[in-house]
Amino acid sequence: MKRRTLNKEALQKKRSSYQKIFSETLSELDKRVSVILVAPKYGGNIGAVARLMRNYGLSDLRFVSPPEIGDEAMARAMNGKDILLNARRYGNMQDAIDGFRIVAATSSAITLDDRKFRRLPETPAKFWKRALKTDGNIALVFGREDDGLRNTEIEMCNSFIHIPSNPEYPVLNLSHAVSIILYEMIRDLEQKLPQTSDPIEDENMSRLVDSVMDIITMTDYPEYKIPNTRVMLSRLMARSEMTQSEYFKIMGIIRFLRFKLGTDGTNGEAPEKLY
Ligand code: SAH
Repeated sequence: MKRRTLNKEALQKKRSSYQKIFSETLSELDKRVSVILVAPKYGGNIGAVARLMRNYGLSDLRFVSPPEIGDEAMARAMNGKDILLNARRYGNMQDAIDGFRIVAATSSAITLDDRKFRRLPETPAKFWKRALKTDGNIALVFGREDDGLRNTEIEMCNSFIHIPSNPEYPVLNLSHAVSIILYEMIRDLEQKLPQTSDPIEDENMSRLVDSVMDIITMTDYPEYKIPNTRVMLSRLMARSEMTQSEYFKIMGIIRFLRFKLGTDGTNGEAPEKLY
């Protein structure tokens, strides 16, 4: 009973630390990062982008050549409806990007020729690593579903992001491209998050190997194989990334096997439970 209460507290602590790390990071990003859609056509995409922004804690959505916000966009926006309704609307790109330190064009069409600066690609990961080191505001600019961003629009941007994808068909759906780029924005968070599961304690690793070896010796497993089998098991354990819960489960199985083999000292009583 006591153990259960402690586990519950530990879980609650883990949960709130997980949430705290997220909300602090996302609210910092929200102050700095905006998404600009240039002349998007399809309500489905527009709604999906608003939803994605909510997924990643952003709120400043801007439209250049604003579309009508129809039923489909609203339906697809789900919890991002407010973002959609509060989106800022601009008649031209220059006004939309005014005041941003980093303005990143995104495109499926790239060049590998170092002298053609306009479309020299940077991966989303590299972009974020660089951009998040600065302290200025960041605008991510996405193009039309049919013909993307025009050269004149790309020239207004001081960064250029390309999501690596099949060179024979590198064109992602607009909202999918937004999704990948926003996910990359929070990738570094991974290192800050609390471990999602408790790793097995060191002494339990050898306890488990000992228990398996004990069981083995209760059978007619050839004795000459035992040293090598022990080494194999301990190497396997060291690589396993086993959690404490998995350890308890396996120990439960071993206890059950011992009982079946009749040498667990319980005088024939079944173990209480099989974890
Ligand atoms: N023929 C257009 C395709 C537009 S797809 C073009 O080549 O740009 C709609 C938008 O999705 C693009 O303007 C861009 O913002 C984004 N996008 C699609 N594929 C992408 C990729 N591989 N990398 C980065 N952005 C991409």
